[in-house]
Amino acid sequence: MPFPKSEDGHRLKRYLMKASNSVRICVPVCEQSFGAAESAIVKAAEIGDLVEVRLDCLDPLQLAESFRNGEHLFDRSSRPTILTFRPVEQGGHRKLDTKARLLFWLFNRPTSAQFLDIELDLALNASVFDYGKKVDWTRVICSHHNFVGVPGDLDRVFDRMIQTPARILKIAFQAGDITDCIAAFQLLDRARSESREMIAIAMGMAGLVTRVLGPCRGAFLTYGALETESATAPGQITARELRTLYRIDRLSRETRITGLAGLPVTHSISPYILNAAFESAQFDGVYMPFEVRDISSFIERMVHPRTREIDWNFLGLSVTAPHKTSVMSCLDRIDPAAKEIGAVNTIVVEGDELHGFNTDADAFISPIVPRIGELREARCAVIGAGGAASAAVWSLRQQGAKVTVFARDAGKAQPLAERFGAASKQLDSALFEGFDVVVNATPLGTSGGHETETPATAAQLRGARLAYDLVYNPVETQFLREARDAGCELIGGLEMLVTQAAEQFRLWTGAVAPDEVMQAAAVRGLGHHV
Ligand code: NAP
Repeated sequence: MPFPKSEDGHRLKRYLMKASNSVRICVPVCEQSFGAAESAIVKAAEIGDLVEVRLDCLDPLQLAESFRNGEHLFDRSSRPTILTFRPVEQGGHRKLDTKARLLFWLFNRPTSAQFLDIELDLALNASVFDYGKKVDWTRVICSHHNFVGVPGDLDRVFDRMIQTPARILKIAFQAGDITDCIAAFQLLDRARSESREMIAIAMGMAGLVTRVLGPCRGAFLTYGALETESATAPGQITARELRTLYRIDRLSRETRITGLAGLPVTHSISPYILNAAFESAQFDGVYMPFEVRDISSFIERMVHPRTREIDWNFLGLSVTAPHKTSVMSCLDRIDPAAKEIGAVNTIVVEGDELHGFNTDADAFISPIVPRIGELREARCAVIGAGGAASAAVWSLRQQGAKVTVFARDAGKAQPLAERFGAASKQLDSALFEGFDVVVNATPLGTSGGHETETPATAAQLRGARLAYDLVYNPVETQFLREARDAGCELIGGLEMLVTQAAEQFRLWTGAVAPDEVMQAAAVRGLGHHV
């Protein structure tokens, strides 16, 4: 059933009041043709609480048609709609001078949308809207976009916005680093303290937390795409991910915040694993990817209880490349094993301190022992000399194994080997015959263009007993295929990933991790990232 037209103010008011304490996800529709827009609007209304109809996306002929017959489009939505007509410099799809924009809003726009998104420069000239089709300013979102970075004068933009008669304010800017999100959260705080309704979004992957946490920090709405490919702004994830992966409807200011700090983090499946664990344990927590360039500034400004600039309930962090070693100088206490390994992959907020742990090392070793038993004196080869290799060599040495580090760069393999009492060798044309365990601790074979690569061929692996790939995406890597051809037993990286995440869950919540739920979620996550 279509949502009542804008004139039915009474029903709209009731709808918005009912929803005022709940999260609103707005699904934008940006299509070139009427037909495609119509079907997208119907689908958007099924998943969203509001639908934004971007008429600037229509191709020229279809746009002209919308001037005559546009009401029809809005009638397709069973949810309230937002009408948007953006010029290219504000992120729109067409070049529009001020005159064309005014003509649209005053004379050509369909009138059945419940909300109008009008950019700040036009809204500042509100008196112009006394002509033509009437504008109800209690239904207007006054918007401003910056696709380059964080405007230096954000507070001035806010000041100018509140000079317009628009009820709702929207500021979206490009985040280059996760710390840029602080400015968006501060805007929401200011809006709340001045009793204004606001949408504040940091765009780009680094700004994801503002999209997930915005509503529970008072944002009027957040945007979620219908499909990944139909996102209308950088960093916009799907409405479905907001609802089912991040459980946005259940987040509040009390929700415990966790996530993965790294660069890149886009393809991580850890959010699938840990959010599923929180849900299964009925723990009020959320786990998000944090795209971090400068780890010490992130820790200082957003994480450390003594210095952070955001009032949020931060519980802990997973840390991945390239920050596992550099993060150590930001912590108050480091677990002795993590100190020896020289890498922290888990941080726990305890009181006003940060404590660092390494859950990779135990998770690495746990799948090996059941397969080949006692590791004392076992001959083990670790290929690679980075963070994962360090954890692997350390835990194998703890078990009394004899370890050789193979790397393409002997200058990196040697110090790692010496630190843990292992040997080192050049990777080129290495032969692994006689080794009990051969570990791939390089990214070779990872999906996304490197699937066909392997650090060792079947010929090199012949005569080795067990091949263990730390790469988990894809589940079956080229290295594992080569090892199977060579007659080795196999272990993939997913088991280690889930085991180390389970230990993080335990460190953060104090509860036993729901292993099976986490394993199933990991497989589901991989399905989304193939
Ligand atoms: P890292 O610190 O960046 O180390 C990567 C290592 O691989 C370096 O020694 C690097 O050598 C080497 N390498 C890269 N490309 C190579 C190539 N073409 N040929 C030979 N060696 C190459 O990364 P990391 O944190 O150790 O992670 C390594 C892999 O393990 C990643 O795929 C990661 O996803 C995986 N991992 C999995 C788990 C799990 O739970 N399953 C946990 C941790 C890591 P250079 O220094 O010469 O570049």
